[in-house]
Amino acid sequence: MAEIVLSKVGKVYPNGQSAVTDLDLTIHDKEFLVLVGPSGCGKSTILRMIAGLEDISTGVLTIGGRVANDLEPKDRDLAMVFQSYALYPHMTVAENIGFPLRLAKVEKVEIDKAVREAARILELGPYLDRKPAQLSGGQRQRVAMGRAIVRKTSVYLLDEPLSNLDAKLRDQTRSEMVDLQLRLGVTTVYVTHDQVEAMTMGHRVAVMKDGYLQQVAEPKVLYSKPVNTFVAAFIGTPAMNFIDADLTDGGLSVCGQSVPTTPKLQAGLRKTSGSGLTLGIRPEHLVLAAIGIPAQVTGVEWLGSDALVRARFEDKGQQKTLVLRCDGETRVKRDDRIHVNFDRGIHVFDEAGNRIEDGN
Ligand code: ADP
Repeated sequence: MAEIVLSKVGKVYPNGQSAVTDLDLTIHDKEFLVLVGPSGCGKSTILRMIAGLEDISTGVLTIGGRVANDLEPKDRDLAMVFQSYALYPHMTVAENIGFPLRLAKVEKVEIDKAVREAARILELGPYLDRKPAQLSGGQRQRVAMGRAIVRKTSVYLLDEPLSNLDAKLRDQTRSEMVDLQLRLGVTTVYVTHDQVEAMTMGHRVAVMKDGYLQQVAEPKVLYSKPVNTFVAAFIGTPAMNFIDADLTDGGLSVCGQSVPTTPKLQAGLRKTSGSGLTLGIRPEHLVLAAIGIPAQVTGVEWLGSDALVRARFEDKGQQKTLVLRCDGETRVKRDDRIHVNFDRGIHVFDEAGNRIEDGN
């Protein structure tokens, strides 16, 4: 069992910089948990605290039920893979993979066996005698993974391991890593700033901002029920559209159009001050309609099966842009005057940007 529990964990660097505050997060045994957020939100600091490379300022960290705050990194039963793979250029692939075992003074026959097994899992068998310079970026990344695999630890910590790969290779390696993690069943914490990577790889995804955990949930839940406007805007491409909303007798309105509301949402709305409300709606939930918010098309990006339509509209005197995901067959073109409407998939946020529960 390698459950990792962070209870009220905080990190203040010696220069006074607070990097992580009051973090409560449980990473389940065998789970693939992704930490995501913009640069500087504290992701790497969390990973380094779990690894033991950074002191924990406040709170408690347990790994496999053992308090780990003061454990040496080598006693934590984990392996780490960084963005820079740091392979030894003068060593062969086999030597690179086996290096941690050599350091641990494991017998040569055992090392050979472990290296062959890792190479089999990672499909590196034919390359064992090559030097890193003779490998592609993806293969080098797999060698770095191999170094983690041979150690048979119960936790993997991965810090942006795919960011040096080109887009195509990243896609491929992404799915390979997901398969590998599933097969090995090793508890994995994976850091990335890329929300697509987070959403496609994680069993659950933890979204961080300025050192604070915003939400941790399965990708689908993050997408369909973001707890605040930060998560709503961060997850999903193109990003969610936001429009100022007003409280009315019957519910809500935006740009003079009434918004369909459920009794639950109405109850939620009654608990707010009623000012500073925001309606969030994803591009795929906006439709072209005979009536709706008047807008003018400023551009159409054709993506094949669908098209992204950008349209300018007026929101309380301000010019803003809406993005709609339309059918690829759409005839809409630049400068067209359109009406935009929606009937489902709405998100409502209060003045502080927090989601108003809608019971959906
Ligand atoms: P991320 O991985 O999300 O980009 P980091 O965990 O690296 O974020 O950094 C979180 C915050 O802590 C940032 O404001 C960063 O500048 C600061 N920070 C990181 N390392 C140090 C350090 N060694 N000393 C002081 N501040 C640091």
